[in-house]
Amino acid sequence: MKRIVHIEINQRLESNAPRDVVLEFVSKFAKTCKLIQGSIINSFDDPFLSEHVQTVKICEINDEAPQCLEANDVDLCYHVYTLDPYGSQLETMDGEGDKEVPFALHCILPTTEFAGLWESLVYDSAIKENLLNFVETTLLFSDSGVDMNIIKWNRVVLLHGPPGTGKTSLCKALAQKLAIRLGHRYTHGEFIEINSHSLFSKWFSESGKLVTKMFSKIQEYIENPNALVCVLIDEVESLTHARKSALAGTEPSDSIRVVNAVLTQIDQIQRYRNVLVLATSNVTGAIDTAFVDRADIKQYIGPPSPFAIYKIFLSCIEELQRTGIITSNDSLMNLKLLQLSSSESTEGTKNNLTKNSLFLLNIARKSEGLSGRSLRKIPFLAHSYYIQKQTTSLEEFLEAMEKTVLKQLQDQKFSFGGVPHKNSGCNCVG
Ligand code: ADP
Repeated sequence: MKRIVHIEINQRLESNAPRDVVLEFVSKFAKTCKLIQGSIINSFDDPFLSEHVQTVKICEINDEAPQCLEANDVDLCYHVYTLDPYGSQLETMDGEGDKEVPFALHCILPTTEFAGLWESLVYDSAIKENLLNFVETTLLFSDSGVDMNIIKWNRVVLLHGPPGTGKTSLCKALAQKLAIRLGHRYTHGEFIEINSHSLFSKWFSESGKLVTKMFSKIQEYIENPNALVCVLIDEVESLTHARKSALAGTEPSDSIRVVNAVLTQIDQIQRYRNVLVLATSNVTGAIDTAFVDRADIKQYIGPPSPFAIYKIFLSCIEELQRTGIITSNDSLMNLKLLQLSSSESTEGTKNNLTKNSLFLLNIARKSEGLSGRSLRKIPFLAHSYYIQKQTTSLEEFLEAMEKTVLKQLQDQKFSFGGVPHKNSGCNCVG
């Protein structure tokens, strides 16, 4: 069986060409060009493609397949989509006394707001692919009419781990990816982000009725079978906190009613095929057991390894090169190439490319234990602490990054909470 390569085609917002015509042009184009995994093509000789297509992305296959693929050796699976330009809006509903109560952020998928998010998240294991496979299995089981009383699945995913490791971003990226990949089944996606803290705000903690009302609003989206509805419940540990506080008498006992209402409502919406519930928690082990029981996948997300950190730093440096802040045209090696060449080259044969890449890998090793969020701030801090000028060379910037990482680790020794640092035993805030 041939491997499947997904080709994602972002049709321009202003284009009104029918999707099948766009697809026809792109499939002709794909057969004539080199398919480099992970590459994004944004300029075309063909006038039709230039006018109607923003980007064509050749998605990666997560195995040892060669970087460059021949169209004949693989099955190409095309997805044409247009990005919604409006982004997230605050959803409100009528609360008690006819007061408007905000309850969620809502956006249409795929959205410009989440563009590139999937690609920007780096994990050591195949977490992203596993999540996509999970949804494929739910679709297959539903389509094949598997009896849910015999085999149970709930369409609930729980991502847990330290703060700043990309859990919320991954939920958003997954929803976006699904809206693109499932474009043949759904006309669009609806992304609804409920912050658990707001569930236990003054408004909600007083009434389980508001929760029911909120879910009936969500239900309106679900009832459109052409929409894929992704509901994100962020920081779901608030449910446990509310239940415990209510039992201890430190919060009104109504909180328990709210927790129960949330769980009942999740049970209600699970029955619909076009719904996916995504939840995150920063406190592993402190999540409401009733909620944990409902999750099909409970995925721990930890801080990235040095190799993942290398990839994150590399993407930051490439961005600074693209914008001209790092002037040197010297590029750095991608991780695979670096691993190959560092085993081959001896001290004498190392050229600038290898030296700089090894230096970056060394910085990545020193950064182990920092969260993805902290890592993405390092280049910014490096510039503001140690560069402070319009342009800089790659070597100078790498040195500034190294100093910044050491400074961050030092500073975080005095911070509270967060990810325990593997090397120093200090606590790092996410
Ligand atoms: P969490 O929900 O776990 O607290 P977020 O999703 O809010 O984390 O992450 C914040 C930002 O940190 C992300 O948007 C991303 O820029 C960066 N980040 C976190 N983890 C990673 C990762 N594994 N790879 C790349 N970037 C990451």
